[in-house]
Parts: sequence; structure tokens; C-alpha cells
Amino acid sequence: MKLLLHMCCGPCSCYPVKTLRAQGIEPTGFFFNPNIHPYKEWKHRLDTAKEFAAKVGMEIITDEHYALHEFVRRAIPAESQPNGRCTMCYTWRLRETARYAKEHGYDAFTSTLFYSIYQQHDLMRRTAERFAVAYGVAFRYEDFRPGWQEGIDISKELDLYRQPYCGCIFSEEERYSKEYLKRRRKENRAKKRARMEREQQSHA
Ligand code: SF4
Repeated sequence: MKLLLHMCCGPCSCYPVKTLRAQGIEPTGFFFNPNIHPYKEWKHRLDTAKEFAAKVGMEIITDEHYALHEFVRRAIPAESQPNGRCTMCYTWRLRETARYAKEHGYDAFTSTLFYSIYQQHDLMRRTAERFAVAYGVAFRYEDFRPGWQEGIDISKELDLYRQPYCGCIFSEEERYSKEYLKRRRKENRAKKRARMEREQQSHA
């Protein structure tokens, strides 16, 4: 099977590539991640994806256009919908992977996003399935999450850079800003209070 493997980064590729090879599939890596910012971080992850591919002897295709402006233009309107920004982000990356796979004669596509225990697995699966139909190319689904720790171990053995946040500048703020965390805690407390009040009223 000629499989195009969307790579979100080097470390997340370790376990999926090992697993696919054990099944007799030699994937081609596809780095397309307009969601990674700022520039130095994107470049570092791109270089690490290439480093990984070279270390394990895998073919890799890379999109080397840094797309901060376009990402922000798409993300800001999406923010008004629940989960909107990440939905837009998965859609963009998985659609491009399906499109590239179809146009370049691959039998199927998948993504290392299905390795991450932090991503919205079911939403991504539905999105990939939708584009498989739209572009007429198979989506090869596999839940790589059981190999989470093994993937980390391999990435450390290969001495790959391991990033500390998801990718976009919004997720960077969510990871480091004390102000953001304070706001989130406050919002969660308010939601909890509202939920308890509703429950009390329904029992009254
Ligand atoms: S948090 Fe991660 S998945 Fe969501 S928009 Fe940012 S980079 Fe994409």
C-alpha cells in the first residue's frame, strides 16, 4: 500500500512509523502544519521532522511555507464557535493531506495526530473520513495512542527535540500565561457554580 502519513512533528511520528512498518507498510511522511508558530518553533519542528525521517530512512515531503497570517485569519472567526479553532486546524491539515494523497497517486492517507493523547481523536477521525470521501482516496484509520509511552521512549533514543505546546500561538499562551490560567480557573468555577445551582433548582 502506498500510504501518505501526515506528520505533525518528529516525536509523534516515532510510534506510528514503527507500527506501520511492522505491518509491512512503508509510509511517506508529509509535513504540512500551518498551525505552528512562532517562526523559530515552526522551523525547529520542520527540521526535527526531517531529522527523524533521515534517522529512520523514511521518505518525506515537506511544505515549507510559514503560514502565520493565514492561520490567524482563519482562527479568529473560528474562535466564536465552541472548539472552532481546533476544528479549523484539523480540517485544514487533513484536507490538504487527502488532496495531496489523491493528486500524487497514494492509495491512502493517515496522520500522526492519531497518536496524540491530547488531540480530539474522534473529531479528527470524522474529519479525515469526510475528506477521504470528498477526494476519493482511502483514509487508513489506526488508533496509535496505546503506543504513547513507547513513542516518547523512541524519540528520546533518537535525541529528537520535543515541543512543549500544541502548536499555534494561542496554545502557546494557554501553556505559559498565568493570566490565561487564572481566567480559565475563574470560568470553570463559574460554570461549576451554575451547574450546581441548576441541579439544586431541579431537586427543589
Ligand atoms: S491548539 Fe493545537 S490543534 Fe488546536 S488550533 Fe492550536 S495548534 Fe491546532
